[in-house]
Amino acid sequence: MRIRELGEDSLIRKIRKRFANSASVVGIGDDAAIVEIPPEHSIVYCSDLVAESIHFLRDLHPPDSVGYKAVAVNVSDVGAMGGRPAFFTLSMSLPGDLETNWLDGFLDGVSRACADFGVHLVGGDTSSAERIFVDVSMIGHLPRGSQVLRSGAKPGDGIYVTGMLGASALGLERLRAGDASHPSVHRHLYPAPRHRVGMALASQVSAMIDISDGLSTDLYHILEESKVSCRIYKHLLPQAPDSTEHQVLHGGEEYELLIVGRNLPPKVEEVPLTLIGEVTPAAMDSQIYLIDGSRETALKPLGYKHF
Ligand code: ADP
Ligand code: MG
Repeated sequence: MRIRELGEDSLIRKIRKRFANSASVVGIGDDAAIVEIPPEHSIVYCSDLVAESIHFLRDLHPPDSVGYKAVAVNVSDVGAMGGRPAFFTLSMSLPGDLETNWLDGFLDGVSRACADFGVHLVGGDTSSAERIFVDVSMIGHLPRGSQVLRSGAKPGDGIYVTGMLGASALGLERLRAGDASHPSVHRHLYPAPRHRVGMALASQVSAMIDISDGLSTDLYHILEESKVSCRIYKHLLPQAPDSTEHQVLHGGEEYELLIVGRNLPPKVEEVPLTLIGEVTPAAMDSQIYLIDGSRETALKPLGYKHF
């Protein structure tokens, strides 16, 4: 069956039935959702869109990965502020001739992400378009005043990264080459956001960002916002097996956290944390200096840019 034959009302009924939950005061089915947040908390709010041919290829990426990732990337953003992700809306435009199998697979991924990350679908919007287009908007919360910004890095702070780097870019490369069996492919298709680490460390770190565009680009965002520079040591970078130096330094869609702080433990919430460098004062403009043995080179942010 195709989406056109299913129709908008049945499509929304399908989603409503599948994602019925008691976590919100009012969920799918009314004009808007009503949710509660704990007293003395602030709302953390973000959105991330997924466009066919830009973020995924219909022939290459399984539909459940598209659904899983659309939720995961927002969970990652909320976590990078130190927030607890809680509720989201799902808005999508789908081609009328799309097979409903694709939608079912996509919703499987959304559903699995809900279970893995403890978040709840509370509404959305549905429309038609020539290509698949999905927006997830996520609401989370954090104790008032406890947010961690990009702008808090101070000279002398350590720079830490969760997990390993390079796997997502390697996974995409392997997937394109038709080798879906490499472990990095799973990593690319079903990212593991580090929101639990972000929440656990929020009260003791000075800056945080999730790596969506690549280490060099996202680290540079922290430096610019904090008006500092940094040194990164090549031998300290936690390199995923088989990944290249370029994938480690610039590969996007990692959804690891870059954390700036002092004396952080080697493991948080079962996730390894690696010290990779330190914050230094900025001379004029912010710079990343990559130390490789006795060589020091300025590392340009070469991660993903849409335009
Ligand atoms: P309205 O015309 O008021 O925008 P809709 O018919 O678009 O209402 O939506 C009806 C209900 O279904 C709303 O509660 C909305 O949040 C929900 N909804 C619509 N599309 C989606 C979707 N893709 N995912 C989740 N909920 C949806
Ligand atoms: Mg609507």
